[in-house]
Amino acid sequence: MHLARFPRVFLAHLPTPLEKLDRLSKELGGPEIWIKRDDCTGLSTGGNKTRKLEFLMAEAQAMGADTVMTQGATQSNHARQTAAAAAKLGMGCHILLEDRTGSNDANYNTNGNVLLDHLHGATTSKRAGGMDMQAEMEAVADKLRAEGRKVYLIPGGGSNATGALGYVNCAFEMIAQANDRALAIDHIVTATGSAGTQAGLITGLKAMNAGIPLTGIGVRAPKERQEEMVFALAQKTAQKMGCPDVVQRGDVVADSNYVGPGYGIPREDTLEAIRMFAQLEAILLDPVYSGKGAAGLIDYCRKGKFKKGERVVFLHTGGSAALFGYDAVFASDTKSLSVG
Ligand SMILES: *Cc1c(COP(=O)(O)O)cnc(C)c1O
Repeated sequence: MHLARFPRVFLAHLPTPLEKLDRLSKELGGPEIWIKRDDCTGLSTGGNKTRKLEFLMAEAQAMGADTVMTQGATQSNHARQTAAAAAKLGMGCHILLEDRTGSNDANYNTNGNVLLDHLHGATTSKRAGGMDMQAEMEAVADKLRAEGRKVYLIPGGGSNATGALGYVNCAFEMIAQANDRALAIDHIVTATGSAGTQAGLITGLKAMNAGIPLTGIGVRAPKERQEEMVFALAQKTAQKMGCPDVVQRGDVVADSNYVGPGYGIPREDTLEAIRMFAQLEAILLDPVYSGKGAAGLIDYCRKGKFKKGERVVFLHTGGSAALFGYDAVFASDTKSLSVG
């Protein structure tokens, strides 16, 4: 298979760094922990959607689109990266934001990713939680088309077989980096939501026969449903890549024990993970995705599921812009120095 056969626009700073986390590894006293810095993809504070958008936006351009549309939760990182990609390529962008958390917090609703959506020139409209967002998006697209716009629809999270190619590419890139420094990876962990990241990664890993297990830490759906979503998309991605059946159902592992109260609502272990990464490694996680993924990683280390002598890579999917929509959950972190 050969990724260069698929249309692509270059939006990301690649390769992203693969770094060792010495202080976090020492603190946990278990495996050597490494991080793949996809929070550093560069587009409007970075994140995992940028790799997907390299293939999605190329497809939009190939189809002659002048406008892209997508949808996500209010603090969607995907929406922000799509708005940025559209700005860079001179395309219009309209985003539907779903109120999945019911939060009335002013910063949640207007700061962080929402501020950046608008700064990049995108228009947004809101929908109540639980609506069929794909159907909502198609209805708005029909109206824009009636006005003469050529609209390309990007699914939530950019998760279809085209977007997942971005994470096939990431698997190739990460294994090449590990090979170059003789780093034998025993396990890869990442947050999993709309499934494109995990589906692309597992397809790439299996296509290379890397033999590295991948665990997705769920942020929304229960385990079984998350795994079915990832598996279905991995099969489509493998088909598109010309290696059908390379991914087996058993290759897809998700753990939804770190979701907490629900999508977009952090739990104490989410916040602990965010503080640990910030204070031990100066790396910013987020309260919706990477904080939950890291909470899973930390718990696996503490429980001995990942052991001393092993090497684990945490794929950091980004999301730090959302911190500014969640300042209220960090209110107790404000400390002042008293001396004398
Ligand atoms: C979207 C997102 C994820 C989840 O990736 P999927 O491909 O949707 O599973 C993880 N982390 C961050 C920061 C995200 O924005």
